[in-house]
Amino acid sequence: MIIHIYDDDLLNGDGIREVVFLQGCHHHCKGCFNSETWEFKVPSFDDELKDAEKLMHLENKLKEDYIAGVTISGGDPLAPENVKQTSLIVDLAKKYNKTVWIYTGYLYEDLINKYYILLSNVDVLCDGPFIEELKSPNKPWVGSSNQRVIDVQKSIKQGTVVLK
Ligand code: SF4
Repeated sequence: MIIHIYDDDLLNGDGIREVVFLQGCHHHCKGCFNSETWEFKVPSFDDELKDAEKLMHLENKLKEDYIAGVTISGGDPLAPENVKQTSLIVDLAKKYNKTVWIYTGYLYEDLINKYYILLSNVDVLCDGPFIEELKSPNKPWVGSSNQRVIDVQKSIKQGTVVLK
């Protein structure tokens, strides 16, 4: 379920991006900036209609040349409950040749075999849980120093994690 979409964002990846927030996360990191997104909700018919409207809005934005891509955040886009919705958004971004960034509390090594097809269409994965004790306000794009900004395409080609 999509919580909201930020348009024309400059903080969550390269260039001007659409940022989609999905509902539901299993990690419950201490100090999470977005704890209202933790709960998984069974979407009502009304929620599904709203999601369809948001996806139409997203598609219209992705048609714009100045939009570099989409960043999918949450919640956790790679929680099993969210993977189907995330795949839809990734496919939409690739239809318009846009880059895809995903934020997840899981680790690349635990995801790559499980979600290979999905990840083979992702450009950057910011992985790992937020650890409050390792909070690192100056590290670009992530919140704590354990989190990695991974170049997924290079990592797949080289068979090992390559940082961006
Ligand atoms: S993975 Fe992200 S959304 Fe989930 S609890 Fe941790 S910081 Fe919050």
